Amino acid sequence: MKQVLTLENVTKTFGGIVALSEFEGSVEEGEITGLIGPNGAGKTTLFNVITGVLSPDSGTVRFRGEDVTQDSPHRICRKGIARTFQTPKPIGSLTVEKNLRAAYRFGEPDPAVSEEERYQQTLDLFDLRENEDVRAENLQLIEQKHVDVGRALMSDPALLLLDEIMAGLTPTEKVNMCETIERINSEFDISVLLIEHDLKRIRSISDTIIAMNDGSHLLTGTPTEVLANDGLREAYIGT
Ligand code: ATP
Repeated sequence: MKQVLTLENVTKTFGGIVALSEFEGSVEEGEITGLIGPNGAGKTTLFNVITGVLSPDSGTVRFRGEDVTQDSPHRICRKGIARTFQTPKPIGSLTVEKNLRAAYRFGEPDPAVSEEERYQQTLDLFDLRENEDVRAENLQLIEQKHVDVGRALMSDPALLLLDEIMAGLTPTEKVNMCETIERINSEFDISVLLIEHDLKRIRSISDTIIAMNDGSHLLTGTPTEVLANDGLREAYIGT
């Protein structure tokens, strides 16, 4: 299988705090990969380094084989990596339609699918048709999350990074969100890397899980392999 994302020896410190320590890992093309680890393990920092929000102290980030370590967030988005944040970040004062359409221009979408077609697909996928003209700040949390992921999809990414997209959702909303992520992966052919604390959900949705602790890679494997690992249990109990 081909790797869509590769992280080589990535280190990031904040003053005396080592957030990432020679982190090694990769994401296979076409897969849904879960990224887990206790609070403070470095998961969000890793997303920030991958998307160019933070520059690592050392190490290399490769996207489809290309070194993108020093690229700006804007360039990385144009190259095909889109993300969401822990707290939804739609532009509150804009309607759902304006939020989604604005994001089309962040990427370099395949011209074979027009902006209109992509917009209509996104409305359908997230059941947002009734809210097209509603300002994003007036939406429920789940709807704001749908707009966030919808914005990421509008840029036509090859890799989608989701940071705790299920946090704060009800059990039923989580199940629905998992189904939507699976559709994004299979119907839109987008590789997904998602940070998630709900181990039941991450087990059910992931092809592969990467576990990290204290800024370092702990292990990678199938959900069954990783979640049965003693080192992972100790990492969680230790915190
Ligand atoms: P959580 O699951 O709680 O979201 P995480 O695995 O995403 O945690 P990070 O948020 O990446 O962990 O944080 C890793 C470490 O880096 C923590 O010790 C955190 O306090 C520290 N850290 C992250 N960002 C900064 C920053 N901007 N300045 C200083 N320290 C930071």
